[in-house]
Amino acid sequence: MGSVVVVGSGPNGLAAAVVMARAGHDVTVLERNEKAGGGARSEDLFGLGTVHDPCSSIHPMALASPFFRAFGLSDRLEFHVPEISYAHPLGTGEALIAYRSLERTVSGLGPESGRVWNRVFSTLARRADEVAALVTRPMPPRIDPLALSFGARLGAVTGSAAFPTRAASLFSGVAAHGNAPLGRPATAAIGLALGTLAHGRGWGFPLGGTGAITSALIDDLTAHGGAMVTNTTVRSRSDLPPADVLLFDTAPRALAAIMGDDLSAHLAGRYRSFRYGAGVCTVDLVLDGPVPWADARLLAAPTVHLGGRAERIAFAEREVARGRHPEQPYTLVNQPGSLDASRRGPLGLHPVSAYCHVPGGSTVDMTEAILAQIERFAPGMRDRIRAIRTVTAAERAQSNPNDVGGDINAGALTLTQLVRRPVLGHAPWRTSIRGTYLCSASTAPGTGVHGMAGFGAAALALRDVFRQGVPDLSNRAARQRARS
Ligand SMILES: Cc1cc2nc3c(=O)[nH]c(=O)nc-3n(C[C@H](O)[C@H](O)[C@H](O)COP(=O)(O)OP(=O)(O)OC[C@H]3O[C@@H](n4cnc5c(N)ncnc54)[C@H](O)[C@@H]3O)c2cc1C
Repeated sequence: MGSVVVVGSGPNGLAAAVVMARAGHDVTVLERNEKAGGGARSEDLFGLGTVHDPCSSIHPMALASPFFRAFGLSDRLEFHVPEISYAHPLGTGEALIAYRSLERTVSGLGPESGRVWNRVFSTLARRADEVAALVTRPMPPRIDPLALSFGARLGAVTGSAAFPTRAASLFSGVAAHGNAPLGRPATAAIGLALGTLAHGRGWGFPLGGTGAITSALIDDLTAHGGAMVTNTTVRSRSDLPPADVLLFDTAPRALAAIMGDDLSAHLAGRYRSFRYGAGVCTVDLVLDGPVPWADARLLAAPTVHLGGRAERIAFAEREVARGRHPEQPYTLVNQPGSLDASRRGPLGLHPVSAYCHVPGGSTVDMTEAILAQIERFAPGMRDRIRAIRTVTAAERAQSNPNDVGGDINAGALTLTQLVRRPVLGHAPWRTSIRGTYLCSASTAPGTGVHGMAGFGAAALALRDVFRQGVPDLSNRAARQRARS
């Protein structure tokens, strides 16, 4: 049995910890915050009994991730997968809707847009789990028919003129999750991947809140002898207990600072020059009723993309990239509480979270711009606000140093950083120090609650240091309990 220390308890750190503990090693996870989970937590932010997810909320990646599928996440907690994956209201009072059913989406888009949407997504949606496996491996992928098919569609949707108007607007909302100018290959790749998952396993979320994902991981870790230690910041080597393997769920530059001269000068330089993208300003709200969307169908959507037509969203995203704060920013609203009564607390209130993109490091409070965007598509929303809190990009970076400048993707999504995250090759988690690995979302495959960076790093550590393969991760005991 070896000793393993994981720094940081986000989904990647915990995925790595689970793999190592199941392989029989003595695992300790050190987390600087009071609560474990990093970007996968739930909280009663206002003491009103409502459940907010202050970071990640909707989980297409967790549902489709090869790691979480092997782990049997859906057997360990209850996911709700709505018929609608995401929605996109237009200024006309009408909304575009991405249903889990591709056919329904296509027919709602009308003949011209529907035809193109179908052409782009039909093959990929049929093979959505394989697409998930493809996009959660380090890039560039092995060339096979699916990779070629994804690449061909990526070529088609990159650039501004790929889709007819309605399809372009629907796609712009999902591509904008990349938090970078639209029309670029990396942004289009995010849109294509998330768009495919929408028609695959769907954009589901755990009933009761995202924190259930973290609890499932910690329960498994402790069941296999691991320990979770909170309120412990690792600043230097002397803060680390002796270990055969160190796994860092941190920013690359944090690993460089902690490991100092032990890290090769080349890799330290690479880590320090890792680039970050734009930030986000978030607003968490408690409403005394559901969001009064002009198009009531939107209440059945876990995520709503606001900003109107594609060209307006493209303009707003360009402004952010130029270092400006748009007057009408692209705004993303998560409202799982409208589909999950268990989050509403004893008073039946509605927890809602929204964010908009801002330049990295911004200290600007975007509350007014975000509320105005929601109000445009949901007149009367302001009158329902019972409680509100705003977190600027600069404040977010303080609460989680992985999100440098408030970049919730933990690294700019550029074509270069899609392939070199943070270094080129099929083992981007390995460092120049034997037994030391970087496993955060700043490594491949990048942002999202999928655990695949942690899984990849742990699998590599098992091979390099212990000459072991990946252990069984399945939840056999829980399944047996359910059967008996
Ligand atoms: C507002 C917001 C909304 C999001 N929405 C979604 C969504 O809906 N769906 C989705 O899939 N993803 C979403 N994401 C992204 C997702 O949360 C992240 O990609 C994911 O959490 C990254 O996981 P990670 O393990 O790499 O790092 P993190 O989750 O960032 O965790 C890193 C942990 O390490 C700790 N840490 C860092 N340095 C140290 C140190 N030196 N010592 C000790 N501890 C340390 C941090 O405190 C943190 O707890 C969102 C993120 C944010 C912020």
